[in-house]
Amino acid sequence: MKITSIKSHVLQYDLPEELGYSQQYYAKRTAHLVEVETDEGITGWGECFGPGNVALANKGIVERVIQPMVLGDDPMDRDVIWHKVYNLLRDHGQKGMPLQALSGVDIALWDIAGKVAGLPIHKLIGGAHRTSVPVYGYGMMLRREDADSMCARFTDEAAAIKAMGFVATKMKIGLGAKDDVRLAQAVRKGVGDDFDFMADANHCYTTSDAFYVGKALEELGAYWFEEPIAPEDLDGYRELRAGLKVNISGGEAEFNRWGWRKLLEARGLDIAQPEVCAIGGISEYLRVLALCHAHFTPVVNHVWGSAVAVATNLQLLAAMPPLPGGLFPREPMLEFDTTDNKFRDELLTTPLDIQGQVARNGGRAAVPTGPGLGIEPDRDFIARYEIH
Ligand code: CA
Repeated sequence: MKITSIKSHVLQYDLPEELGYSQQYYAKRTAHLVEVETDEGITGWGECFGPGNVALANKGIVERVIQPMVLGDDPMDRDVIWHKVYNLLRDHGQKGMPLQALSGVDIALWDIAGKVAGLPIHKLIGGAHRTSVPVYGYGMMLRREDADSMCARFTDEAAAIKAMGFVATKMKIGLGAKDDVRLAQAVRKGVGDDFDFMADANHCYTTSDAFYVGKALEELGAYWFEEPIAPEDLDGYRELRAGLKVNISGGEAEFNRWGWRKLLEARGLDIAQPEVCAIGGISEYLRVLALCHAHFTPVVNHVWGSAVAVATNLQLLAAMPPLPGGLFPREPMLEFDTTDNKFRDELLTTPLDIQGQVARNGGRAAVPTGPGLGIEPDRDFIARYEIH
């Protein structure tokens, strides 16, 4: 079998309302799908992490840099292809956009391998440790409003996400340390005492501000404090983890096994959050997962993007071994964005309907069992939203 073409589809639409996190506000939803075609008529789908113009730039890497390297190669040789591409791009970027671009291609090759074998990807990896996964719902995005009205909105939204059936919820913070503590108090008020919530700072704090907010999160019983400080600040992560009781999580901005080796050896994370659509795809994710577990660091995948990314993560969460194992293990959760996203809800010929499953099945979503990713994107839908 031979690879005959690799195409990127960048999809975009205007959000009904602007959303924000600690770094910026955004008004458009983007998804970057990768389609790998073969001479035997089997097509694989993947997805690259990266919004807006980053997606358009990554499309250039996928189609104009990676595609010529691997045209004519056997798509079943995905590890050979991974190393060929990585080695040829090493001088031009061991992290960031080249890895995001390679991720989408690698995921598509796994989809092809599953379709050739007639098996879902979790079977190719080694089987399902679980056939459904608990789902946490995130929302509570920043908006251009004052802190008082944001607190009131966060209380309402937190209660609404809990009422939808999710097993936990995650909020954004980033107004500044003092107001962020008020936002976290508002979320605790919304969900009540006996429900997990997490706070995501998207690396906006200095270490001292992170200690201030982290102590408050500790008192509120938050489950984790995500990306408190810049991902490059490994010493800061180590100090925070040693000094705070709340779990420190992060890793979505780290790439490949070598980046993760440094991150894990710094001992700054209680919970690792690799992003499969950025880290180097499924091939590299599996190596990083092994590294995390070798350090006894539990993994809760970072999830962003379209239904292709959600399906990819469902496959990976099914195949993740329990750490450390036991009768009643704490299971890895699927991260699920509760804000407006047509690319997650309407992209597939048969939608995953995560929200419906969560509402019906005690906060859990089933792992797709069809070949490969177990999904089929709708080409008419793609054509309608594609930008160039
Ligand atoms: Ca995050």
